[in-house]
Amino acid sequence: MSETPQSQVIDAAAAGRRHRVVIIGSGFGGLFAAQQLEKADVEVTLVAKTGHHLFQPLLYQVATGILSVGEIAPSTRLILRDQENANCVLGDVTHIDVASKTVHANAGHIEFDLEYDSLIVAAGASQSYFGNDHFEQWAPGMKSVDDALELRSRIMGCFEQAEITDDEEQRKRLLTFVIVGAGPTGVEMAGQVAELAQHTLKNSFRRIDPAAARVILLDAAPLVLPPFGNKLGNAARARLEKMGVEVQLNAMVTDVDYHGIEVKDPDGSHRRIDASCKIWSAGVKGSPLGKMIADQTGAETDRAGRVKVAEDLSVPGHPNIFVVGDLMSLDDLPGVAQVAIQGGQYAAKQIAAGVDKGQRPEQRRPFKYFDKGSMATVSRYSAVVKMGKLEIHGFIAWIMWLVVHLAYLVGFKNRLTTMVSWGMHIGGDHRSHLNTTQQWVYARQAIERVQADDAAARRAAEEGAASDGQTARSAETS
Ligand SMILES: Cc1cc2nc3c(=O)[nH]c(=O)nc-3n(C[C@H](O)[C@H](O)[C@H](O)COP(=O)(O)OP(=O)(O)OC[C@H]3O[C@@H](n4cnc5c(N)ncnc54)[C@H](O)[C@@H]3O)c2cc1C
Repeated sequence: MSETPQSQVIDAAAAGRRHRVVIIGSGFGGLFAAQQLEKADVEVTLVAKTGHHLFQPLLYQVATGILSVGEIAPSTRLILRDQENANCVLGDVTHIDVASKTVHANAGHIEFDLEYDSLIVAAGASQSYFGNDHFEQWAPGMKSVDDALELRSRIMGCFEQAEITDDEEQRKRLLTFVIVGAGPTGVEMAGQVAELAQHTLKNSFRRIDPAAARVILLDAAPLVLPPFGNKLGNAARARLEKMGVEVQLNAMVTDVDYHGIEVKDPDGSHRRIDASCKIWSAGVKGSPLGKMIADQTGAETDRAGRVKVAEDLSVPGHPNIFVVGDLMSLDDLPGVAQVAIQGGQYAAKQIAAGVDKGQRPEQRRPFKYFDKGSMATVSRYSAVVKMGKLEIHGFIAWIMWLVVHLAYLVGFKNRLTTMVSWGMHIGGDHRSHLNTTQQWVYARQAIERVQADDAAARRAAEEGAASDGQTARSAETS
């Protein structure tokens, strides 16, 4: 039988300790849940595989040199340092044991367990290649700081190599940028790569004209920004095309390699686009922790691997385990920051009410999402905003976008420096963060090699241990 938070409150009190809440993830869901618990009589441990809280909506500005990493990824430990009941732990959670209420994680080679009375899983989602994971090495997505820095290095590297090469075909390939996925991230990236090429880099090369770069935004869907509807989608498309971005819709990517991509058009014909720089922003899949929870609890997952939660955001039959944000599936709610923020806060409130006021799980009011609207920028001075029936595009929408994004950045200093960076970009086409390093370009391959070596070493050790056991057993029976 599953335990309720109430029985755990009693357990915790009987053991003379506070109720332990473990939160996995320091994104919007995890951080806002931890902050919501500030006044509750609980002990909060927030474990995440990075030491920062990442403001993903502005990652594209890091990838295109407008903002620095620090502006969108402040230290979680520093954000929570004055919250007496919260502790931050760096760790990659590799296992959740629902039966023993334990989370197993590691930080490098150090492994550790965290016991919980209540668990909030806000582990988010990663890029989905729809079963073609081998595309990733040639067309990375943009979900983390590492991704953004790698993309920045790839983009700038292409301009640099194009300047050097004498081979015309190669130069064309290096100056072709393909962004797959015409959702908000794809639109924002396409707009920014175009602006970078046409404005920021103007007159800074001697042999190439950066403005000659081709920027292609490609999607299998028939519309740009589908969640925003026809009117705003078409407005965004028109703006992109005015900037010289080639928008190719109903175009399905069938293969990706080092030198380009293969595309299938609606008439069934195939064509190839030679492009050195490919960026993937076409789909998401839930963290593997979702499946782990589902396997142990019998909960269902949707096609994207997100956990189907009950109306109180708990895992059905397990009222002490909440799944929030991009990893939860409920009523077709979108994977956006507000869903994660409100979900994290709601889950934290239910735990606090159980501990402080004795609220039983069946007394919980269902989670109600308050839709504050959606927005995406297309370029400088142009954005689209949808709020209920209100649909705005152009300059006013762009101002609204600026204000909202500034308001949700964490920390006064970050807001201030972001405003300065934006001011320099808007006023003078200046991007202060176009620096790149070799490490950012090659780290992904190096990490994959280290992980493969580690896995091989572990397998060898396990096989060694198994054969030692067999030898010992044979010796006993002989
Ligand atoms: C490029 C981009 C642009 C976006 N733009 C917008 C936008 O304009 N507006 C909007 O509303 N939304 C936008 N979104 C979506 C929004 O950012 C997400 O919906 C939101 O971040 C989800 O929050 P979350 O807490 O569920 O997950 P995340 O913010 O992804 O956080 C997940 C956390 O879990 C941690 N984690 C994952 N696995 C493990 C593990 N095994 N062990 C330990 N820790 C783990 C991660 O390190 C991270 O801290 C954008 C997303 C991206 C990627």
